Parts: sequence; structure tokens; C-alpha cells
Amino acid sequence: MTALDANLDKLATYLERFRATGIQNRIAGQDRAGAGGVFQDHSPVDKSLICDVAHGTAADIDAAASAAHDAFADWRDMPALERKKILINVAEAIEGRAEEIALCECWDTGQTLRFMSKAALRGAENFRFFADQVVQARDGQHLKSPTLMNVTTRKPIGPVGVITPWNTPFMLSTWKIAPALAAGCTVVHKPAEASPLTARLLVEIAEEAGLPPGVLNTVNGFGEDAGKALCEHKKIKAIAFVGESRTGSLITKQGADTLKRNHLELGGKNPVIVFDDADLERALDAVIFMIYSINGERCTSSSRLFIQDTIREEFEAKLIERVNNIKVGHPLDPATEIGPLVTEEHYNKVTSYFDIAKEDGATVAAGGVKVGEDGYFVRPTLFTGASNDMRIAREEIFGPVLTSIPFSTEDEALAMANDTDYGLTGYLWTNDLTRALRFTDQLEAGMIWVNSENVRHLPRRLGGSNLRASAGMAVIGRLSFTWSKNISVLPPVNIRSCASARNGRKENGRDCTRRKNDPCADAVDVGTRGTNQRQTSACHRRSPRNCPSRQRVGRHHRGDLRHPLGDQCRLSHQCK
Ligand code: NAD
Repeated sequence: MTALDANLDKLATYLERFRATGIQNRIAGQDRAGAGGVFQDHSPVDKSLICDVAHGTAADIDAAASAAHDAFADWRDMPALERKKILINVAEAIEGRAEEIALCECWDTGQTLRFMSKAALRGAENFRFFADQVVQARDGQHLKSPTLMNVTTRKPIGPVGVITPWNTPFMLSTWKIAPALAAGCTVVHKPAEASPLTARLLVEIAEEAGLPPGVLNTVNGFGEDAGKALCEHKKIKAIAFVGESRTGSLITKQGADTLKRNHLELGGKNPVIVFDDADLERALDAVIFMIYSINGERCTSSSRLFIQDTIREEFEAKLIERVNNIKVGHPLDPATEIGPLVTEEHYNKVTSYFDIAKEDGATVAAGGVKVGEDGYFVRPTLFTGASNDMRIAREEIFGPVLTSIPFSTEDEALAMANDTDYGLTGYLWTNDLTRALRFTDQLEAGMIWVNSENVRHLPRRLGGSNLRASAGMAVIGRLSFTWSKNISVLPPVNIRSCASARNGRKENGRDCTRRKNDPCADAVDVGTRGTNQRQTSACHRRSPRNCPSRQRVGRHHRGDLRHPLGDQCRLSHQCK
């Protein structure tokens, strides 16, 4: 039995339950049929039916938002360590079902097992990473002011919507859901209609690992009905979205009436710039990896190659040879490097660029053809002789398609790299450190790698230089899913010192008479800004009974029970 056959056998077992019952929505820990009936999920490998999927509409979103709303207070108030433990349990449970997740994901999306075998583990890593942040998720700051003690803290924003794409759906769902849960938010998840299998596995795994019902709800459906309803729902306080830039714009509009907070991770048309002083073998590996792995369906892929003209011919020749050797095939065959594209619609979009490139005057140097009839397979494709104003250099193709553009000077490379509607990532290959620092300083991209392919480091900020690449909050995590509360307190120490101050007493070398006519101001000054802590303590923490000033001022002593809000307090107009 080949490895592919063995994987197909295992897959058949995992798919059985989907075939038997289809995929239901999951709301408040219960399976629910979709108000819109069902839609069908097909595999891009052979176009066969995988299963029926609940077609959620606004009514289902409403039920899920209410469930998330009802579950919110208990989840928010659960002790942090308990919430953390549940998230770690989820991570462990994901690891326990990694094979099932990987096989289902490949069959549903066309992604190859070679790359997806790790996707579940990365999903588990996301849960662990954000579990570690649970305890600090609501930490704030203590901000001193001349008059008041300010304490800021963070609170979970409430139920949030998570809307995810189809390209690596399991990993991306965990990337948004885990931080929301860690912050204490509850979630309504609307997975991509093209790849619903692993979203179902995720909610099931999470509940089995101890996530209370209603904390994570999954509603399947399409963007224009379920997705839109989620953005418009009053009980949903924020939307965390990964997908196309155009959809990100719609999400912003749809959430405007309810003043939604949006976290948007959008598209990319990312440059990789190779200078002639680079390690060309390593650069070649990285250029190939960053556009042809994960079927090129990757927002951070480097889809525009800027190659210095002094090495262009040699580099492109090697590139063509390597690209022509890439193995296209069944995604569950461990030898396969590129599987089918996710849907017929996407296949038609990607293959349309084969003609667009020729019409614009570029050369199809490798690929540019469809493979077979059964599924949505294409050969990895390289366009050469292109310029940065061609559609193949400006539009996100989101497939295994690379556009190579020559340059001669550093300035020219920089100008073309920055001339884009996107700005998510950038990759630079040079052994000239000064140039690397100069170039990266001016390259407009949220995440840049020098002499490296994309290696994610979870604590790093996720950014984008352009609204089409990444808008809303630049950092995922607690800032996206919490709101800030400030509490200002007038410290009681102010009152105790009033009498001393008014009496012009000097204690322990600290002159309380400095603002004799402004007792409260002086007291505050001493109490909160004094540089000598021991002196100010001696002056202000003395109890009224023992305070020498009490004896002197007798019945005029203001005492602990008199608040600065009293009539004589010169700060009273501020206090009110
Ligand atoms: P998409 O925008 O078409 O769909 C993404 C999700 O949005 C789906 O669940 C879809 O149903 C939903 N949706 C569609 N219209 C909607 C609407 N009007 N209101 C609410 N929801 C709506 O994207 P896709 O084709 O599934 O994914 C590919 C895109 O995702 C590419 O552009 C890619 O660059 C981007 N992406 C970005 C990142 C990132 O981190 N920046 C990561 C992966 C993918």
C-alpha cells in the first residue's frame, strides 16, 4: 500500500461522520440546522461531494450572537488561571487530533499534506501562545497625575465575530479565536464557505476540552448573508477578519452603524528583491518556497520578484528549471508539492492570468497551463519580462504564480517595490548590511525579512503599511479584544496633610508651608510627587490623633473624615 492509499483510507474514516450527518451549525453547545437549508461542500481534488453544510443566515447569526452574549459574563469572570487551563487543554486536544485535522483540511482545500501536516500543530501553538497571555490580558497602568491616582485596566470587549478565509482555515481560525478567548471574549465564528470541515472540528475539540457552551459558536454560510449579518449585529462588539482587501472594506462599511471595532488581515502583493551580492542559492530556495508552497494561496507570499539585471538571466534560468520540476499532484501524497486550487471560481481566476500576462506582453516562462480535468490543478507558473505596471504585478493572483521584473539600481528596486496597493510583507536578499538597513528603512511593508523566507514569531507585531494590507488595529491580541477603563482616585493622603500644610508645619525637613494658601494642592504635591518617600510618609501618614498639627490647630484640624471636596478645598471645583 502506498502512503497515498494509506492516507486515503484514513481520510475515508474521518469523513464518514460528515457524510452521515453533514455539518450543522454549533450554537450554545447544540447542533442546529441552518435557517437557509444546506449548501454543498466539494473537494477540489476530484470535485466530489464531501457533505451538506448548514446554510446559516441572519436568523442563525442572531441565535449565535445571543448565545455568545449569554455566555459572556461567566467566561469573562472565570478566574484567569481556569481560563488559561481550558485554552491549554484545547491546544493539547488539537495536537491529539492533528492527523484528522490535516487530512480533512487537505481534502477540503487542496492544500498538500506536506505543508498542512504542521497546520494543526501551529493551531495548537496559537492556543498555547495566547493561553500564556490570559493572566496579563487585562493588565493596565498606574499613571501619576499632580492631583489624582489614575489606574487603567483592560476589560474584554464582549462577544466578537471571527470571519476566516479558506486558504489555511484551521490555523487562521485559531489565530483569531484563541486571542479573543484569552481576553475573556466569547466568539461567533463564520468560517469560509469553501472549507467548513476543520472549523467544525475546532468547535467540537474546544467543547470537549472544557470550553463552556456558547463561548465559541460556529455559523456556516456565505459572506453576503451570514457574514454580513454578523458584522451588523448589535450584540457583536468587534470583528476579527482575515480575507481579501475588498471584503475588508465591505466589513468596515457593514459594521459602521454599530460602530464595530475591526481587526483586518487582508491581501498582499509582496516583493522579494534579490541583489547581485546575495547568496543566490539560498535566495533561489526562498523565492521558490515563498510563492509555490501552500499552493501560492498565502497572503505573505512573495509574488513579485525584483531581480537585479546583472544576474537576471542566470537566476531566471535556474528558476525555470526548478519550477518545471515542482511536483503537482494529489494533496495526500507526501511527495506532492502543489495540490489543486480551492474552488472552480478561484481556479478560473488564477488561470485567467495566463492570458492576461500574454496580452500585457509578458513571457510565460514556466507553467501557464491547467493540469487534468478531474480537479482544479495548474502547473506552477513564472512570468518573465514583466513590468511593475502590468496587472500580473499589481493584482493579487493568490495562486502558484510568480512575476519576475528586472531592475538595475537600488532606487529603482525600492520605487517599484513600494509602488503597490498592498504593503503586507517584503523580502530582501543582499549581503551588504548597509544597503539592507537603508532599504528596509524605506520599504513600505509591515513585515520584512532580510536573507530569510517568512519565519513567523508569534509575539511579533502583525502590520501592514497600507490599508489594503492590514487595517484597524496593528496588533492582534488583547488590544483588539479588550477596551480600556481608567479610574481616577483622589488619594486620602491629601486630607491628612491639609492641616499640616495650613499650619505651616515643617516636619522631618519637608516644608509643608510651601503652598500655605493652597493646602490641598500642597498636600497633593507632597503626597504624590515628593522625591523623598520616607519624609512624605512621615508627614502624611501620621494619624490625626498623633499629628502635631492637630494640637496646634485644635478644632480647626481637618482630620481624616473631612474630604477635600469640602467647601474650603481649593480643588473642589475640579473634584466636582
Ligand atoms: P474572502 O474575503 O473572499 O472571504 C473571507 C471570508 O469573508 C469568508 O468567510 C467569506 O464568507 C467572508 N465574507 C465575504 N464577503 C463578506 C461580507 N460582505 N461580509 C462579511 N463576510 C464576508 O477571502 P478568501 O478568498 O476566502 O481568502 C483569500 C484572501 O484572504 C486573500 O486576499 C488573502 O490574501 C487573504 N488572506 C490574508 C491573510 C493575512 O493574514 N493578511 C491571511 C490569509 C489570507
